[in-house]
Amino acid sequence: MMKVLRATQPGRLELCEVEKPALKEEQVLIQVKYSMVCSSDIKLIRGEFHGLSFPVVPGHEWSGIVVEAPEKYKHLIGRKAVADILFPCLKCEQCRKGRRNLCENLLEIGISLQGGYAEYIAVDVTNVIPIPDSIPLKHACIIEPLAVVYNAIQRVGGIKPAETVAILGSGAVGLLLASLAKLMGAAKILVTDYIEERLDIAKKLGATETLNVSDSSVIDECNCGRIFNPDIVFDATGNAEGFNAALEIVKPGGKIGYVGYSAHDKASIQPSQIMLKALNIYGVLSPTETWTEAVNIIENGMIDVDKLITHEFKLEEYATLMDYMSNRKNGIIRAAFKL
Ligand SMILES: [Zn+2]
Ligand SMILES: [Zn+2]
Repeated sequence: MMKVLRATQPGRLELCEVEKPALKEEQVLIQVKYSMVCSSDIKLIRGEFHGLSFPVVPGHEWSGIVVEAPEKYKHLIGRKAVADILFPCLKCEQCRKGRRNLCENLLEIGISLQGGYAEYIAVDVTNVIPIPDSIPLKHACIIEPLAVVYNAIQRVGGIKPAETVAILGSGAVGLLLASLAKLMGAAKILVTDYIEERLDIAKKLGATETLNVSDSSVIDECNCGRIFNPDIVFDATGNAEGFNAALEIVKPGGKIGYVGYSAHDKASIQPSQIMLKALNIYGVLSPTETWTEAVNIIENGMIDVDKLITHEFKLEEYATLMDYMSNRKNGIIRAAFKL
């Protein structure tokens, strides 16, 4: 048996005991050691996710140790690992075009497949990503969101030295974007949020300017010349109105990477901006072929992960964790369940 934290209906989580997953052929069993709670998990648990059915065991940002494997994969036993969360069909039109994240029959760990809020998880061996022993398992949880962020930067064609970047929203994804923008040599990096503590962390991770949007509007500040108009804007707010700000502040000819998940929310925008500024807008969905880069970045200590994983809880303490995450209490950015 194993403990899992399961969302049984919108807004309801239950800690329960279930059978350990039985391994199918070509699968390994991973004992989960850390499982982070992503802000998209909060939306998922509330039932705001597209195409979700309950019950579901959430958790797509996790790490663990391989504990069982079929004979031919015995060498994996004892290895620290994370896993690619996408299980595409490899047969549909999108898969044939190499867009696994858009697969028409996609299964995803923590959404349509059992996630990491559990003591064990069965994963197809093709999805297992063994990681170097030198990476602490707690830090390894950041590999998944970092792979998404790396994908975001690839989608906009990279960040060139001397380019200016704005990152709207400084949750973990926004802060990872700021860290990578700094590593890539952006000339100016603006990070916005309405939580001052997060902006302080953003400064430590590479932001050259921060703006608390509860004091003033980013549109006013950028368009009146008090702050620059960026070449690239990443919207990591998870709030539909963030997209309007991105459209309004980006420089003509600029690029927007849309990274936040705003569920079914709608924004009021002036679409003519897209034409008048000849903008390039990129949707960023899921980690793609960017896991190796994310592992390398963490292995080489290129990002200050301890500033991002601010809290640790036991699975039994889920109500406190969810309260902190939902209400952004006590300086929380990412919290991890320690299993
Ligand atoms: Zn996530
Ligand atoms: Zn497919």
